[in-house]
Amino acid sequence: MSLIGKYLNDFGSLFFPEVCQACGTTLSQQENHFCNTCLHHFPYTNFHLDADNRLAKQFWGRINISSAAAFLYFNKGGTVQNAMHQLKYNKQPQVGVALGNLYAQELKQLAQYQEAEAIIPVPLHLHKLQTRGYNQSEAFANGLSEILNIPVYTDILSRNTERESQAKQSRSNRFENMQKVFSASSNGVNLDTVLLVDDTITTGATLEACVIALQDIGIKNIHIVGIAFTE
Ligand SMILES: [Zn+2]
Repeated sequence: MSLIGKYLNDFGSLFFPEVCQACGTTLSQQENHFCNTCLHHFPYTNFHLDADNRLAKQFWGRINISSAAAFLYFNKGGTVQNAMHQLKYNKQPQVGVALGNLYAQELKQLAQYQEAEAIIPVPLHLHKLQTRGYNQSEAFANGLSEILNIPVYTDILSRNTERESQAKQSRSNRFENMQKVFSASSNGVNLDTVLLVDDTITTGATLEACVIALQDIGIKNIHIVGIAFTE
């Protein structure tokens, strides 16, 4: 960078200092999105290194998946909650991209993630997409894609918002109704192995419905990858 360029850059940051998206502290020029202290202290799950992790166990006996992992524990009142809040409610999709970049650095060490042919984000409710302007799971998917070099597909899995409100109304048949909320269409692409990507994973009911829809179009190996896991 030229001296003038550097001067303008410093000058700009006097007025718009970049802050850590997890703790709000002002970032140094070497830091991006998160400060080093947050990166050091994030509650990493390391689920990708343990096939029998707590998230994967949630799906046992429910659906047949190849693996399930989430990058971080969702610490209520902590840095992960702050970052997720920035991502979902403060128009900061780049937080999702940054988290995707970070997790992909870990995942790319493992053959099972390199073998995937597509990254498929869980679709957002249409009205949320309209108010938010972006799908936070797609932002995370894009961040994973940049490092793993696996394309993101947003036209394979779709969400039927009308069915969803019906499913919420009828409590008795919630599971069955949830199955009809998602549908998948191969759109002429032949996929065997995919990463199914979500933001915060709680009960896994949404993912379960997505997995069933993807298996219906012949996808054999599904790896679930989330940003945060909360029990
Ligand atoms: Zn921080």
